[in-house]
Amino acid sequence: MKCCLVWFRRDLRLTDNPALARAVAEAESVVPVYIHAPEEADPWRPGAASDWWLHHSLASLERDLRARGSRLLLRQGSTLKCLQMLLQETRAEAVYWNRLNEPALVERDQAVEQALREHGVVAHTCNASLLFEPSELLSSQNTPYRVFTAFWRAGAERLAELSPPRPAAKRLTPVPPTLSSLRLAELELLPRVAWDAGFRIWTPGEAGALARLERFEDERLASYGDDRNRPDREGSSRLSPHLHFGEIGPRQVVAAILQRAAGAADARSGAATYLKEIGWREFAHHLLHHYPHTTDRPLDGRFEHYPWTPDAAALQAWRAGRTGVPIVDAGMRELWSTGWMHNRVRMIAASFLTKNLRIHWLEGARWFWDTLLDADLANNTLGWQWTAGCGADAAPYFRVFNPVLQAERFDPHRGYLRRWLPEISALPDALIHRPWLADERVLAAAGVRLGVHYPRPLVDLSASRAAALSGYRALRELGPM
Ligand code: FAD
Repeated sequence: MKCCLVWFRRDLRLTDNPALARAVAEAESVVPVYIHAPEEADPWRPGAASDWWLHHSLASLERDLRARGSRLLLRQGSTLKCLQMLLQETRAEAVYWNRLNEPALVERDQAVEQALREHGVVAHTCNASLLFEPSELLSSQNTPYRVFTAFWRAGAERLAELSPPRPAAKRLTPVPPTLSSLRLAELELLPRVAWDAGFRIWTPGEAGALARLERFEDERLASYGDDRNRPDREGSSRLSPHLHFGEIGPRQVVAAILQRAAGAADARSGAATYLKEIGWREFAHHLLHHYPHTTDRPLDGRFEHYPWTPDAAALQAWRAGRTGVPIVDAGMRELWSTGWMHNRVRMIAASFLTKNLRIHWLEGARWFWDTLLDADLANNTLGWQWTAGCGADAAPYFRVFNPVLQAERFDPHRGYLRRWLPEISALPDALIHRPWLADERVLAAAGVRLGVHYPRPLVDLSASRAAALSGYRALRELGPM
């Protein structure tokens, strides 16, 4: 074949990119393109934080392509129309891309594939984002797994069979200068009001992803099992936005971790725990593939009848990190400031919203969607439904995280709370995670007036827990939970 297009989407890397590798092997010249069509992902078009990441990731991909003699064409508008126009301009005979799992995009891609075929253009699609195809891991009854342990037992057994990651091509063919591209700034992905100052801790792009993985292996893998639950430490890999945008693929991560574990005994237990987390990502994507309605509706249909209590003011306080419950507020501020929140605190903040405030999990999912740099429809849906109790393998309905006990256990020196809540940082360790128990003398000594410097809690934790449980009990009458 003389010429083909490679349609980059959320596989913004050159290493172990199966669509690109196949195109390079099968065509004399390869034209890389990114088409900006966020509306085609509705109702889950990427949020503002994701747009920020995308801008920088595209810039990085463009640099990497140029370094190999190629370049990235940026186009905007209906994907099908853009592809058709490019096919005419290049006389390409085929389009290569890596598949995605989001329901709206699956539908769009099927329509694109069919339209291309009707015009005699071949569409080649590959798997770059998952270890296993969603149809590969099924239970003995040939049904999708709904329990993680069984799913991952099957997945972990097959890790050794994965094909090794492919290196990036050293040179790519030049893209004819006659082919036009938008300038990246024309996609208007960066915020108009600068609220992204805290995002500078991140390095979007393939080089940033590889460097982060290497640093994690060198510095944190051995202690991952202990430190991953500590929001006061940088104990996890923070690869989530890189994985979401496909700047690194899960096969690369697994291969690197297995290799490290083989060579260093102290990394082995951390590696097993870490691979399980990659397994959760895999599980989330499998669930999204098999149950696409769960982005907006509970997997457990009984939860359609749960007595949620909408409360705009409480929702706003939660978003702003002003609930009066320190570990929740610290997490929400970390999210707003850095575009990321520690997994343990995500669970606590989500439990507080859905159980103590009894606000619908979708309200929380939408806020995370807009503010997380790693916002991922599969992982976010799983995380919210798991915490609310309505998803696959969900937290049991009676599990309402106690934010005070969680802070005591996972932020033992209160470093996380003091970092994100400077207005109460002078309170003693015994009270900073429950300032409402401090007497006036202690509060005054710390320069804190509750209700002035820092809010009183929105709800009483015990009473709101009891209300959540009574709502769940009513659901049980609809069938076993
Ligand atoms: P590590 O601990 O280093 O884990 C490595 C990788 O494994 C992560 O990068 C991620 O890709 C995957 N992973 C880890 N934990 C989970 C998990 N519980 N579910 C699925 N994949 C996991 N993760 C997202 O990537 N995007 C989201 O939008 C998202 N929303 C969430 C919402 C809620 C309410 C909850 C409770 C969790 C959510 N998570 C989400 C999962 C998890 O919090 C993040 O993946 C993790 O905190 C990312 O940090 P890390 O890369 O340091 O993780």
